[in-house]
Amino acid sequence: MKPTYILNFLMLLFTVSTAVGQISVDDPEIRKMISEVKSENLEATVKKLVSFGTRHTLSDTKSATRGIGAAQRWVKSEFDNYALASNGRMTSEIDFFTIKADGKRIKNDSQLGNVMATLKGTDVTDDRVIIISGHLDSRATDVLDAIIDAPGANDDGSGVAAMMELARIMSKREFTFTIVFVAVVGEEQGLYGAKYLADKAKEQQWNVIAMINNDMIGNSLSSGTQLRDNRQVRVFSETIPYLETEAEAKIRKSTNRDNDSPSRQLARYIKTVTNQYVEQLDIKLVYRNDRFLRGGDHTPFSQNGFTAIRFCEMNENYDQQHQTVRKEKNIQYGDLPEFMDFEYMKKVTCSNLATLSNLAWSPKAPKNVGIEVKDLTNFSTLVWDKPEGKPVYGYTVLIRETSSPIWEKAIFVKNTKAEIPYSKDNYFFAVQSVDELGHASLPVFPIPIR
Ligand SMILES: [Zn+2]
Repeated sequence: MKPTYILNFLMLLFTVSTAVGQISVDDPEIRKMISEVKSENLEATVKKLVSFGTRHTLSDTKSATRGIGAAQRWVKSEFDNYALASNGRMTSEIDFFTIKADGKRIKNDSQLGNVMATLKGTDVTDDRVIIISGHLDSRATDVLDAIIDAPGANDDGSGVAAMMELARIMSKREFTFTIVFVAVVGEEQGLYGAKYLADKAKEQQWNVIAMINNDMIGNSLSSGTQLRDNRQVRVFSETIPYLETEAEAKIRKSTNRDNDSPSRQLARYIKTVTNQYVEQLDIKLVYRNDRFLRGGDHTPFSQNGFTAIRFCEMNENYDQQHQTVRKEKNIQYGDLPEFMDFEYMKKVTCSNLATLSNLAWSPKAPKNVGIEVKDLTNFSTLVWDKPEGKPVYGYTVLIRETSSPIWEKAIFVKNTKAEIPYSKDNYFFAVQSVDELGHASLPVFPIPIR
């Protein structure tokens, strides 16, 4: 037996073959944080947001009790409360910016503001950033009506409440690098708040490794078909990266990398950690940037070349979404808290938490990940370089059949090379770095090395 075969056999002993997963180690601290997510908190936050009457982007900014201004100041004051537990690592601001009249959904030049809390990491040399968002603004049937009630309980009180619950829980812990929690505005008027933040991140060269948008995650009953689904949540991820260069397109076509954009890797990552840490919740991977012909706050991030996905409930209710509160033929319209399913929303929040904390404790992704193609062989040899920063315990080589949407196998290795008994003709591979507690980086798809 050739020594390499023996090595392969030994490596196979390390194979983790959970249904979708690469991570076999459980982190008790993540379990503890998950136990701190409370549906009562989520419900209270949603109801508080609804109590501002309307959070239309162009609504009152002066009132202490009604309109977008009061809502922004309340979210900031909550962030400031959470920051007390952070040993000075969490800071908050309302990040104001001016938007010009667009002749469509912005009538006059207006000052808008994203409410943001930044939780600094413990490693000052690690410049990675994760952004998690919900949108604070709401709307009624007429998208230009900034006066009428627009409760926005689910759209997107749910996303904001989940983001705030995470900020509350995570502010008490120390993560390796920076997490930005943000309630953006202007979503309903044209994704203005997210676009402003994405442009700023690009301009200031933030190293955003993941942007997670939660928009409508608290409803489980569909309008019309009346389907109830509280066990699945959709994660949308772009197929071909928006900013793909010609050179990248060439590699993609030659390696058939059509389902392995960084955003899709993030979506699969979410599926894996959710499967590990959250009961009775399945991630439904949707292979498009957003719903058909629609967009969300992650879209401007994708368009700026960042890895970005959207969480969205499985079933949407169009009697509630973008509807003025009213009763017609015995049907109650409007986005009201009484239609929401806070236990479902809690599970989606836990999925966000498992994803964020695993990522924010992960070592950096392996560098220069390549697959050797010099010789024709039925083995595949992957090589990569160790990343700087947080120590790496080892690496997992992820394997799936070409027709499989998710990773099917994971082989753990300690060094920076793996020769595995799977033919590159029949499988896709990726490599991720892991620490002792199983916190894994996002997987990197290999490029051919000749
Ligand atoms: Zn929305």
